Amino acid sequence: MPTDEEIRRAKEYLVLRLSAERLAVSSLDSALLSAARRIVAISRRYNIPPERFRFSADPQLQAEVRDVLALLRDALYNRIETIDTFNNDEDKDRPFVAPALTTPWKDKTFRQRLAEYTSRWGYEIEAVIAAAGLEGIKDTKAIESAIREYLDRPYDNPWVKDHMGEGAAVRLENIPHYGKGKPIASQAALALLLTTVVAKGWMQNWARLNAGKKGYYVFRGSSFPCEICDYQTSFPHDASDTDGLPPFHPNCCCYVVYTNDL
Ligand SMILES: [Zn+2]
Repeated sequence: MPTDEEIRRAKEYLVLRLSAERLAVSSLDSALLSAARRIVAISRRYNIPPERFRFSADPQLQAEVRDVLALLRDALYNRIETIDTFNNDEDKDRPFVAPALTTPWKDKTFRQRLAEYTSRWGYEIEAVIAAAGLEGIKDTKAIESAIREYLDRPYDNPWVKDHMGEGAAVRLENIPHYGKGKPIASQAALALLLTTVVAKGWMQNWARLNAGKKGYYVFRGSSFPCEICDYQTSFPHDASDTDGLPPFHPNCCCYVVYTNDL
């Protein structure tokens, strides 16, 4: 079994990892809201009748929105890349998130997922703008504040609810559901994506920092009931077992103690 010192260092690393995860999502909402403001302003300039409103109703509008979404993606990507304020004296200069940005998991890279979720988020904004138009809402500030209020649950927006199935809101019906109930908001999907890639990057780095150790044990960092995490903690892992590295699910706070004493 690992020594108390090995366990202490692994816990310390977990605390740093969790603060990096929080840092990664801390500017997400403001990035989304400023992109939303730009999209609302652009959309209003085109005067498209609400029942026909889509970004694609005008190729120029679509191109402008695409540019805003591309900037948003870059901002989120760069944010992750720059969270390199790594508190480990032994290894200050080693990039720790970068490899996780390019290594696919479940067949998709971080950038692919980011592109998918931000464009899905764009459809949510498109639906809100269309629904606001159908409601006769003309005030830009009212549209912006509705986007802010329902950023994490666009399907609860009363305008969207009223006009679900009409115009641009049709698209929202095709958004994938996860389990029962409502589809997950793109804001939540993006938050999970950002924290997951940071957690993965940090754990890959932890494996590098412990290169040469024989293997590791996984410990639970939370008492939240989870069969996957419980399973992973139930046996010693060989150092080469990269599948045994957390996170095992979004917001997983399991930590890994490398040791020569398995
Ligand atoms: Zn876990």
